[in-house]
Amino acid sequence: MAIRIDGKAISAQIREEIKEQTAAFVAERGYTPGLAVVIVGEDPASQVYVRNKALACEQVGFYSQVHRLPAETTQAELNALVDELNANQQIHGILVQLPLPKHLDETEVLLRIDPKKDVDAFHPYNVGKIMIGDYDFLPCTPAGVMALLERSGIDPAGKNCVVIGRSNIVGKPMAMLLLHANGTVTVCHSRTKNLAEVTREADILVVAIGRADFVGADMVKPGAVVIDVGMNRRADGKLTGDVNFAEVEPIASAITPVPGGVGPMTITMLLQNTLTAAKK
Ligand code: NAP
Repeated sequence: MAIRIDGKAISAQIREEIKEQTAAFVAERGYTPGLAVVIVGEDPASQVYVRNKALACEQVGFYSQVHRLPAETTQAELNALVDELNANQQIHGILVQLPLPKHLDETEVLLRIDPKKDVDAFHPYNVGKIMIGDYDFLPCTPAGVMALLERSGIDPAGKNCVVIGRSNIVGKPMAMLLLHANGTVTVCHSRTKNLAEVTREADILVVAIGRADFVGADMVKPGAVVIDVGMNRRADGKLTGDVNFAEVEPIASAITPVPGGVGPMTITMLLQNTLTAAKK
């Protein structure tokens, strides 16, 4: 039976460390790390994420601002707010909650954020730095996965690492971080042939596709470490991952549950990035 990697506990421990580092930082530098979160429109899931981010800031002693803009906000108005936050000395991190309403251009907004304040690490400048391996910020979800592995004593060096999913926010940076950690990395996607054959070669399998219970026992090598990034809502409203936990837990050596695995780490890594930005 696999060890359950407890993302809630690891996340709480890291937030405690960030809180201590923040207190020391404020005492030494005389200013507080500040995060601005911008949300446009009324998407209920986004509203919850934004509330949680503001709360997390408060818990570790950061200054935070939440800018709630109406759904009909124009590109010019949003750009103007980003410019204002770029210039604001109290703000070290800027996060624009995605998705934006359809009439707004996400790329234009992301390009406008000062890369030094880009705590989501979505700006092409930071994406390029991650590729090179000389980075200030890592995208929060893949960084969270790396922290879970590290704090569980799992070293990707020399291991076969398979990532299912190649999105810009999870799959691609995930593959890059595992590569930097000396894993031998394979990236799979919807056009991959014989997917189960590839995934059965994985010592570390990271799944980020967005399909409930997609990865069953037939896709996992006995003894593998299985990291489930997926967050899917079942018809009954319950949250479930991309991995069939009941099937895979008995054969894996370690596994992240959903909820309580990767999920709690994402905001924690955002806090970490904001502290890094303030230190810079
Ligand atoms: P995405 O942009 O929709 O990307 C999904 C990826 O999965 C794509 O690369 C797609 O391949 C691949 N895929 C889809 N169906 C597949 C199949 N049958 N076989 C193999 N590959 C398949 O999703 P995302 O933003 O990366 O998110 C993935 C999951 O992680 C979602 O459940 C999301 O909710 C969750 N998530 C969780 C967190 C967190 O904090 N825990 C953060 C972000 C995302 P193609 O490229 O070929 O289409």
